[in-house]
Amino acid sequence: MNRIDPRLSATLRQPAELVARGLAPASALADLEQVAARYAIAVTPEIAALIEPGDPADPIARQFIPSAEELVTAPGESADPIGDDVHSPVAGIVHRYPDRILFKLVQVCAVYCRFCFRRETVGPGKPNALSDDAYRAALDYIRANDGIWEVILTGGDPLMLSPRRLAEIMADLAAIDHVKIIRIHTRVPVAAPARVNSEMVAALKAQGATTWVAVHANHPREFSEAARKACARLADAGIPLVSQSVLLRGVNDDAATLESLLRTFVELRIKPYYLHHGDLAPGTSHLRTTLAHGQKLIRGLRGRLSGLCQPEYVLDIPGGHGKAPVGPSYLSQADSPQHDKLSEARYRVVDYCGEIHVYPPRQS
Ligand code: SF4
Repeated sequence: MNRIDPRLSATLRQPAELVARGLAPASALADLEQVAARYAIAVTPEIAALIEPGDPADPIARQFIPSAEELVTAPGESADPIGDDVHSPVAGIVHRYPDRILFKLVQVCAVYCRFCFRRETVGPGKPNALSDDAYRAALDYIRANDGIWEVILTGGDPLMLSPRRLAEIMADLAAIDHVKIIRIHTRVPVAAPARVNSEMVAALKAQGATTWVAVHANHPREFSEAARKACARLADAGIPLVSQSVLLRGVNDDAATLESLLRTFVELRIKPYYLHHGDLAPGTSHLRTTLAHGQKLIRGLRGRLSGLCQPEYVLDIPGGHGKAPVGPSYLSQADSPQHDKLSEARYRVVDYCGEIHVYPPRQS
């Protein structure tokens, strides 16, 4: 199944190329060579064009340009931070929840994000696709488990496959009676938007199942004109779009940037879905925020943004225990619980201005 469409020839992959383009300082070259020996680097021309050269604090640079800080593994960080491996019954499949699976088709991406939670398994030098035998075994597993309603294609980035191969895979999955939803997680619409052409869009639709696309973006500047057009091509084809973003220090961990990102999603017909707390991937502590800071930001968004723009703030619990919503709570119990099912307990509810109200209101 090793049929990746290689059209990203101008992608920067070596620290020396980043230095030559002014995207990393020459003084960092030796450290960056060490980073490159462990973690993949790829900066597409579209992403390179968004970076302000010479500014290491640039929010696009922080996501894609390697840093010596990646050489430091913090306590608690691990190669499999969300515990995929303990839920993998056959190669390429992660079956953590009863009604859905992850199907990891490829190990390559258009760009390599410096905070990637699969950074130990994605990139050149890693096995870059399932073998044909492993692919067939994975399909057999899906066929044999009729509780699987949704298949999430992830990886790596499934849109690195050629449209022809992707169409074959979509048809194979849609032919399974109980598979009703195929969700594709991708960074390609922002990182390599030209790949989202009419053939790719056609490949994403298959008779017998509904396709959803989850677009990964973390900063509003990622939506170049070309990226906006790529998203429009998907939406115009009737493919529902949702977002996934990671809360990242120095990238989007302030209210104004987050607000702008979420508004941009909705304007592009992408429903904000997940805002992930940064996973404990090795060498990523410089990009993580705290849960307390994340909750404060989310609480602030409640008053500033339409409900359409609100994502769910989630944490993947290390060890493979799945996602948990970790946003702030607006409800707490005011009275001791009633034992009578018909009478409402009394609660404190926080409104979007931070004021506390009692529910049900006291009779005057
Ligand atoms: S696109 Fe996704 S899988 Fe690929 S490097 Fe970025 S976060 Fe990791």
